[in-house]
Amino acid sequence: MPKALRLSTCRIFIKNDIRQKSVAHIFLRYKSLKVNEIFYSIQGESSFAGWPCIFVRLTGCNLRCSYCDTQYAYDEGRDASIDDILREVATFRCSLVEITGGEPLRQEETPLLIHTLLDRGYGVLMETNGSFDISAVDPRCIRIVDVKLPGSGEEHRNYWNNLNVLTERDELKFVIGGRKDYEYAREVLGRLQRDVSVKTVANFSPLYGNLAPQLLAEWILEDRLAVRLNLQLHKIIWPPDRRGV
Ligand code: SF4
Repeated sequence: MPKALRLSTCRIFIKNDIRQKSVAHIFLRYKSLKVNEIFYSIQGESSFAGWPCIFVRLTGCNLRCSYCDTQYAYDEGRDASIDDILREVATFRCSLVEITGGEPLRQEETPLLIHTLLDRGYGVLMETNGSFDISAVDPRCIRIVDVKLPGSGEEHRNYWNNLNVLTERDELKFVIGGRKDYEYAREVLGRLQRDVSVKTVANFSPLYGNLAPQLLAEWILEDRLAVRLNLQLHKIIWPPDRRGV
């Protein structure tokens, strides 16, 4: 190809690329979500516990767990475009973002927000209550899926098919308030190990103030369970009822 033609073809590609990027940018200005809060804190509820992380808490939840500590996220919030959220996230200068709630998958633009953050180079965690299908969420995202136990009062809402789409990057979370919850969690885990080949990290968290971590640790060791004991770190670090942590 003659040099002049090569240069003009190259210019067309660059122009098209810039045009596509601008269209994508405008598109993100018109896609909005209801956001309860965006803050920077320490991750507390997965194998990422202890890492500084930006949290995007989305408004609304379809469940009413007995131990819920984020009731303020049921309705309170402001509308923000994906573009606004990206700009706010960038101010914290941290490469790990967690999308949480409420229940993030209750809003239809959540998968697009996650996909866009991943494309911008962020590591993204999403914490979901396990009642929605997670398969629409980009598999590059680490999906932390709650399995609701009897003590929550919402165990009948688990969307069991999620167990079949988990990848090795994803994690399960069981918030355990007592022996009945533990036995239910142990039964789910047994089913998972029997029927699903993927090795997903299972976090067993003693419900803060309800179950002594030592007791849960003893049960796990007694039963030789291959699970991760996860203390709800944010509850240990920060004063109770403090928001934005
Ligand atoms: S799923 Fe989470 S936010 Fe919703 S009620 Fe349960 S604990 Fe609260």
